[in-house]
Amino acid sequence: MSDLGGATSRSSTDRELFGSVPPETSARMSAQKRVDTEPEMSLRRQLHAMGLRYRVNMPIPGMPRRRADIMFTRAKLAVFVDGCFWHRCPEHATHPVARGTWWRQKLDRNVARDRETDAHLRSLGWTVIRFWEHEDMASAAAEIARILAATQASGSQH
Ligand SMILES: [Zn+2]
Repeated sequence: MSDLGGATSRSSTDRELFGSVPPETSARMSAQKRVDTEPEMSLRRQLHAMGLRYRVNMPIPGMPRRRADIMFTRAKLAVFVDGCFWHRCPEHATHPVARGTWWRQKLDRNVARDRETDAHLRSLGWTVIRFWEHEDMASAAAEIARILAATQASGSQH
């Protein structure tokens, strides 16, 4: 057995680094990068059970840094399941008191970005449908199925 252990000295910068990020803040920031929320998973399961096939988290055509939660590429239908907090659901939006202005601006930007994404997709001939995460996902799945059926009926027949 060789003894590799030298004298370990903890630098004081370790403590400073760990102490510098408030854990609640970093957790909340990373929550924005959410991909698969439970309502979205539920919707996907139900669509799949209905025999519908789709792509998830695909980059939006012409906006590679933005993604649609669920996309039906042939029907050109983009589906979003929006988080009540991040996208300002009228029923559940909360307004953080701490750093209130900063949050308001940030959430305003999110909502503006949503509208911009919708307009962009529609300009390319896509249908855009958004659900709030609090909505009943069985109804959401049924609505999507109706839209797809209507799209197929009016589209070219093969
Ligand atoms: Zn809500």
